[in-house]
This record gives sequence, C-alpha cells and structure tokens, in this order.
Amino acid sequence: MKLIFEKGNTNRGLTLMPECDVPVVNVSAGFERKRELNLPHVSETEISRHYTELTKRTFGVNNGFYPLGSCTMKYNPKINDEIARLPGFSDVHPLQPEHTVQGCLEVYYLADKYLSKITGMDHMDFQPAAGAHGEFTGLKLIWAYHMDRNDTKRDKIIVPDSAHGTNPASAAMAGFTVINVPSTEEGFVDTDALREVVGEDTAGFMLTNPNTIGLFEENILEITSIIHEAGGLNYYDGANLNAIMGVARPGDMGFDVVHLNLHKTFSTPHGGGGPGSGPVGCKEFLAKYLPTPRIVCRDNIYTFEDKSEKSIGRVKDFYGNFLVVVRALTYIMTLGREGLKDASENAVLNANYMMHNLKDTFTIPFGKGRCMHEFVISLEKLKKDKSVSALDFAKTLLDYDIHPPTMYFPLIVHEALMVEPTETETKETLDRAIEIFKEVHNKAYEEPELLHASPTTKPIGRPDEVMAARNPILRANT
Ligand SMILES: *Cc1c(COP(=O)(O)O)cnc(C)c1O
Repeated sequence: MKLIFEKGNTNRGLTLMPECDVPVVNVSAGFERKRELNLPHVSETEISRHYTELTKRTFGVNNGFYPLGSCTMKYNPKINDEIARLPGFSDVHPLQPEHTVQGCLEVYYLADKYLSKITGMDHMDFQPAAGAHGEFTGLKLIWAYHMDRNDTKRDKIIVPDSAHGTNPASAAMAGFTVINVPSTEEGFVDTDALREVVGEDTAGFMLTNPNTIGLFEENILEITSIIHEAGGLNYYDGANLNAIMGVARPGDMGFDVVHLNLHKTFSTPHGGGGPGSGPVGCKEFLAKYLPTPRIVCRDNIYTFEDKSEKSIGRVKDFYGNFLVVVRALTYIMTLGREGLKDASENAVLNANYMMHNLKDTFTIPFGKGRCMHEFVISLEKLKKDKSVSALDFAKTLLDYDIHPPTMYFPLIVHEALMVEPTETETKETLDRAIEIFKEVHNKAYEEPELLHASPTTKPIGRPDEVMAARNPILRANT
C-alpha cells in the first residue's frame, strides 16, 4: 500500500488553506519554519479511500470475534460516543471557570457516586489515566496511610502468582518490595503460604479477582482477614469487573482500595494506547490521602476543593481523561442496576459455554468447575506432539477472522491461550468460534506445517516480535 505522501500530484495545487485575508505577521526569530511544510497533495476522494484502505488492514471488534483475555474487547454501545461527542462535553477547556462547566463536574460527581456503589467503596478518584496508573495511585494511598500512622516498617506488598503482571510492577514503582505467594493446584491463593509471609512489614496485598486464570478466589474473606489481622490493607484489581459487577462488591469482601478499568468494563474502546481511565476507589478512612483537587457539591453547585494536607498530590495533569468517564456514566445510566448485573452474568455465561464446549478437545488446566468471564487453554501437549505452539495456533485463527486470544499469559500455564468472549457476543458467534478452534486443532495434528506458516491471508505474516515491540517503525521516513 502506498503512503499518502506518495499519492496525488504536487503540480495540481493544494487548496486546503484559504487565501490569507489578514496582515501577515512574522514570528519571532528562532520559531520560524526551517523547511517547506510537507503536506500530501490529494483530493478528498483520495483521502477517504486511503483511510478506508487503512482500516481494512487492521482488526477490531467491528471486524470479528475478539476474545482477548484480560482485556475485555467487547462491542461498546454507540450511544456512549454520541453523548461524549456533545459540544458541552467535548468543547470544554480544563481551565474554564467552574460555573461554566457545572454539567461536566456533575458527570464526575455522579460517576463517583455510582462507581462507589458498584464497588462498595466510599470515594472514587478519576485522575489515573489507565489501570496500572490506578494501581500506582492506590498503592500510594496505602503507603500514605502507614506513614501517617508512623508505621514505617511496612514496605512489602504481597502479590499472588496468578495476579495481572501490572500488579507487581506497580508495587515496585510505588517503592515497595514485592513478595510472591504461590497458587494451589486448583488455581487459588494458597492461604497457608499467605499466613507464612504476612507480618509487621506487610503494607498490603493486591488481588486480581477474578484471577488471571478466570477464577473467583474461593477463600476471599479468609484472605482479606489474614491481611487485616497483620495490619496490612487489601487492594482489589477490578480491571475486569464485568465478571462481578452488580453481583458482588469488593468493599463487602474486605477490600480497602480498588481500581477499575473504565476502558474495559465500562465501555470505552481501547487498544493502541488510546485514552483510558483507571479510577481508584477507597474506603472513607483513606479519603484524606486521595489525589486533589476533589469535586464537591454544595447547594447544587459543584466546585473543586484542594484542602487535604495529607493528599498524595496530583497523579495527572487536570482531571484525568474526561470523555472516558462520560462514556462510563452513559453506560451505567442506560443499563441501570439490572442491566449491569445482566452484563456480568452474560459475560460469565458466554465464557462457561465456550469452555465447556472446548474441554473435550483442549487441555483446560483449571477448568474443572466453573470459570468467571474468561478461561485459559494450555497447548503444551500440542507443542510436544506436533511442535505447534500457542503462537502458531493464535496466528492461524487470524486466517479465520478471529483475533488471537491473549497468549503466554498467565505465566503459570504453559503455552497458554486466554479466552474472553465477553457479554456482547451471540450464541451463533460463539458456536462458530468453537467450531473454528476445533478445526484448527485438527489441522494442527494433520498438517502442522500449515500452522507454522500462518497467517497467509493477512497484509502482514509474521513480524519479528521482538523488533516490533522494541523498535517499532511507527512513521514513514518522509
Ligand atoms: C488490563 C489490566 C490491567 C492494566 O490496565 P491498563 O489500563 O492496561 O494499565 C491491570 N489489571 C488487570 C487484571 C487487567 O486486566
């Protein structure tokens, strides 16, 4: 495919900019453009075709099934975008006087109230721009709490080996030492091992729940009490709240801090590093440490308040990614209490439906009982028998117009494929996906070399994964 700069014709004239009808003023020395502005010389039709062509070279939820575990790539209701596009939300400036943006402040205020109710917390803060950023912020709250009580020995955060990878990373970034606890054979936190590692240096415990093998921690109340009894706080990674929202609340399970990924559960399309929101929620006793300013409402007037001296300070310029919060609030208000519960129940039902239909063909290491919103397949046997890896399998799915599931994660499962169908897929789509998974599995035994060579129908075959991650070429050299 040609670059847009290689299309069009420079001699035809570029009429994008109107004639200048104001006096020309020279900019100060040092700020002048040093070379001609390089713009593509193309017509509107050519631009339109160019971008349409580009969209065909990528794969999103609008193209097909996208069961990327731990990422919740679901179809997001378009009404959320319509609301987020309203000029009163999209044409505002963060430095506008408060009385001109009362509606926007109300959005934050309401989102705080609803999400606090949904999680069983007392407050939510919307500054964090992503899940990992929410983790960092939440851990800083835990740190501030212990420091405030002069309990300065508490520098350890306990993280189970089934946690999301960002958990130990955030704990380390927030200045803690990470202590790992192993999982039992069934895939749950080993409470005996947990009892052994807690102590006077325990600052807190981070739990991804459902964990990364898609299981709800069975002993969750026991786990949170072990930590509380040792003087630590409990952190809930609620990035994937779509497994429990409307059904159970972290606040009722003994958690003090939680983060959510609005760009997963609460319906903002994500991927490619687009704007996200990882609000952090906490119980009342931690409220004074939250980032400032906070939004308060008095006599129906919303204002920013910046008075807590114990606040950990700002974690982001201005107030986070506002339009993501608008979408989340729209989602919550259109679905309502029952709708949110339905969404979770369907997410769990869809995952179980797929898991149970695949378990006779595939090894599903922790698939004995029921899963939550996702499950993990292990292709270790296929790798041994036919040298077909999880990567080969995932690449082959692309030729069937299925986006690969998450690969090689969680780390405790070898040759892992982590499948999350989400609540927005129909039974027909799931049935077709089940058929394709089985077909690819058969093909792997009959003609394994085909899987090594796939995908064959896509614009790109197999890029050098390391180079693509470490040295991505993101722009043409023009
Ligand atoms: C996605 C995810 C995160 C990290 O969220 P980002 O927005 O990518 O930083 C953390 N925990 C879990 C369980 C997740 O699925």
